[in-house]
Amino acid sequence: MTAHILLVEDEVKLARFLELELSSEGYKISVAHSGIAALTLARELSPDLAILDWMLPELSGLEICRRLRATNINIPVILLTAKDEVSDRVAGLDAGADDYVVKPFSIEELLARIRAHLRRTQEPDQDILQFEDLSLNHRTRQVYRGKRAIELTAKEFHLLEYMLSHPRQVFTRDQILEKVWGYDFMGDSNIIEVYIRYLRLKLEENNEKRLIHTVRGVGYVLRE
Ligand code: CA
Repeated sequence: MTAHILLVEDEVKLARFLELELSSEGYKISVAHSGIAALTLARELSPDLAILDWMLPELSGLEICRRLRATNINIPVILLTAKDEVSDRVAGLDAGADDYVVKPFSIEELLARIRAHLRRTQEPDQDILQFEDLSLNHRTRQVYRGKRAIELTAKEFHLLEYMLSHPRQVFTRDQILEKVWGYDFMGDSNIIEVYIRYLRLKLEENNEKRLIHTVRGVGYVLRE
């Protein structure tokens, strides 16, 4: 997959130089020379990464960065800046920039930063468990069926998390009790049926197809 980079730089010679260097590395490049053009391109082209010069006509690189973040464009942003003051770095981070390259810089340094940021965003998200159209985020505790957000109680979340960690594996009632309720659970093991029913109601609220299946006489399985 070719990464698409949006380069925003008003110094035409530098922009041209960077465009050639980045193209020869195999990146697809779109260039803007001003802030307004940059915002338009960012919305229309959905680039994978943006390189923003700090000092630009109309809008500064910082302001572009702020506006990208405000519209939920969360691609990596590298600021090019001649300034090297600590307070400027803080302002850049506050605006949502991911990195800095201080002018004058070597092209190798810029390329290394680009590779590092693209690698990070292209890795699959370790926080997300996914099966079919069902996804669960460990960190944010959000659960989705397609685009539909699903509210779960702590226990329902834990039960679903356990099943999602091993799709297609059949779990016995004892395994589920032990993992989700703990060794010391003293209550009625029918609790599992009750919670499976709650989960199915929430996961199939819009008549979505069933993902949690009963394996008669054994337990439960998450499968197509
Ligand atoms: Ca400039």
